Amino acid sequence: MSSTHQTAEPILAPHFRADRQDQQGLSGKLRALGITGSAFAAIQADIQPTVRMVGDERREVTLCDHNCTVEVDSLPTGGQYTCPAALSLNLGNGRPELVPTDLLEQGLLRTVAGIRIARGPFLDTVFPRYVQDFAIPSAVASALLEATDTDRVQVNLFGGSPETHPGYLSLVETLHSNGVEVHLTTTGRKIVRDAGFRGAFLQSPPDLLALGADDFASPDDAAALFSLPVDQLSAEWRKVPWQHGQRRKAVEAAQIVRLAAETTHFPQLLFNVVMHQRNLDTVEELLDVLAEHAPAAWLNPYPVQTGFLRQPGVFDAGELDRLSAFVDLMLDEHRRRATGGHPRWMVVPRIHYWLMLRAAIDTAADPAVASDLVAGTGIWTCFDRPGAGRCVQIAARGQPATSRFAGGHLGCFWNTVTVTDERQVWAMSAEDIGGWIFRDRLALARSSAEKCQGCAFPRMSFDSISLELGLGEAVRTAYLRARRTFLGY
Ligand code: SF4
Ligand code: SF4
Repeated sequence: MSSTHQTAEPILAPHFRADRQDQQGLSGKLRALGITGSAFAAIQADIQPTVRMVGDERREVTLCDHNCTVEVDSLPTGGQYTCPAALSLNLGNGRPELVPTDLLEQGLLRTVAGIRIARGPFLDTVFPRYVQDFAIPSAVASALLEATDTDRVQVNLFGGSPETHPGYLSLVETLHSNGVEVHLTTTGRKIVRDAGFRGAFLQSPPDLLALGADDFASPDDAAALFSLPVDQLSAEWRKVPWQHGQRRKAVEAAQIVRLAAETTHFPQLLFNVVMHQRNLDTVEELLDVLAEHAPAAWLNPYPVQTGFLRQPGVFDAGELDRLSAFVDLMLDEHRRRATGGHPRWMVVPRIHYWLMLRAAIDTAADPAVASDLVAGTGIWTCFDRPGAGRCVQIAARGQPATSRFAGGHLGCFWNTVTVTDERQVWAMSAEDIGGWIFRDRLALARSSAEKCQGCAFPRMSFDSISLELGLGEAVRTAYLRARRTFLGY
């Protein structure tokens, strides 16, 4: 662990001194560090699943119009990761049919209601046990309880380009009118290309628009794209073959940044930055470029995930050293933000996430094990303890389709063989959905023949309570040690 952190006073230590009890100040710091959030739970809903004929089988797939894979037909695409929704992996015959808007709305609102039902048992039984098992000081526990005892829910609309669903605009209005915070994770293609849609989109914008920013060839490439005028960006996009989905996303991200700069009332931007072997060396420069061209955007870097695919981590010993230094940088950023300093970047506040990565790198003597941990294997799961999975995913099932419309399954977008329920949310009661969140999800995982090995997707581990409840045994002790060093408890 870096010496600066070992010698610096833990960030929250002043609040634990008998003569410095200041609950408000402590709550503010917990918020600044991302330890508490703004909602009880989140939903991540893939709204683009469809049924495709693959051979003579009706299969549930996500209708993504991009192809983020490392290769297609053994030819490299320039991509650095393989997404299960990628176009080349889901080619099929027949006209795809999406879930109708009324069913989607019904399913999402019922899931929001199910989450609100699950909050009661969470606060009554899960939370008190968590406070005890994880040695949470009483002042921190009070702040966590206050932040968690809320009806607020976030919904992240997801699945490639979810705004291409014909019911997207109505869905956002319905969710907003039910007090839900709406996030949209997209490539942005339709917002860029369709001026008519863009006007309607901006009438009822999502609260947050998340884009990928890990697809640039280099920071210089990103800076060059960000500096191009809109028409040249369009020409650039047309040159990219369909197989190179990550490159298309890079150009689209630049197009959205241009639009955001030229449009009033554009939604808050967030850039997801997956750190992989090709960009790890230059990720700081890339964050600088993003901060220069989109200064108000949140930045969300995290290491590439392969554990959910049952594949090993990708980083060697030297790359882990670089990741380790980056983790320390992130921890410094959080310290600065919470102690009145000037952070270099608008990094999404989430100190617990960086403490988990710190623990993963520190605890494994063998670089191959550390590499697997940061790629998800054994670091965290949504299904081993109740309360870990407070990001509720709705996605396709990855099995032969048994009903007319695909999707709507409580489960996981990335790994469909561990916690995915065969029922569809629009056909479930809110009580049944509430029961899945902390009970059925765990039972499904126990009976899964090929259980997911875990993940370190920041959105999945949600807030500090969920992250700590889901920590793998391999990192738990090191995590608690790092938490004491950095936070003071
Ligand atoms: S755009 Fe997103 S959902 Fe589509 S293939 Fe790429 S990473 Fe997957
Ligand atoms: S741990 Fe849970 S959320 Fe993460 S990939 Fe596995 S099943 Fe999905």
